[in-house]
Amino acid sequence: MAKKQRKLVYNGHKGLPVGTRCIWCGEQTADPAYIINPGGNPLMACCCEDHFQKTNTFVRRDNKIRPVFYVVLFVFVAIDLVMIGYNMTSRYAYLPLLGIALTVCAWPSVFTHYQFYVRLGLVKTRRIIRIIMLCIAVLALASTLSVM
Ligand SMILES: [Zn+2]
Repeated sequence: MAKKQRKLVYNGHKGLPVGTRCIWCGEQTADPAYIINPGGNPLMACCCEDHFQKTNTFVRRDNKIRPVFYVVLFVFVAIDLVMIGYNMTSRYAYLPLLGIALTVCAWPSVFTHYQFYVRLGLVKTRRIIRIIMLCIAVLALASTLSVM
């Protein structure tokens, strides 16, 4: 499949759609020579060799690691749902939320698909998700401690 698409589009000659941003850093200087997913939609491209390599490494690692985090996340969500279901308001009520927040913080791409990175770039998007999740984690921890 990938082979076919590679042949179909972009040999480094055709330009990218106007306003294509580097999937890694988010700069508006994506180069047709560094396309991550030829023929893909939306097209993901990078601005330089360095970012191209980094993105490729990330995608490879992400494909391997992501399923593990899905499982972890699922466990926390399940615990959380059980607690809500039984209307538990114990001191541990917010711990699953803390777990979820820390899981997403550790590997932000569990929540996102690559399309999500196109606008701001991978690095910034991950930073934003991490900050939001840290806030949630702190709130969850504070709630846990205040109940105790
Ligand atoms: Zn870049």
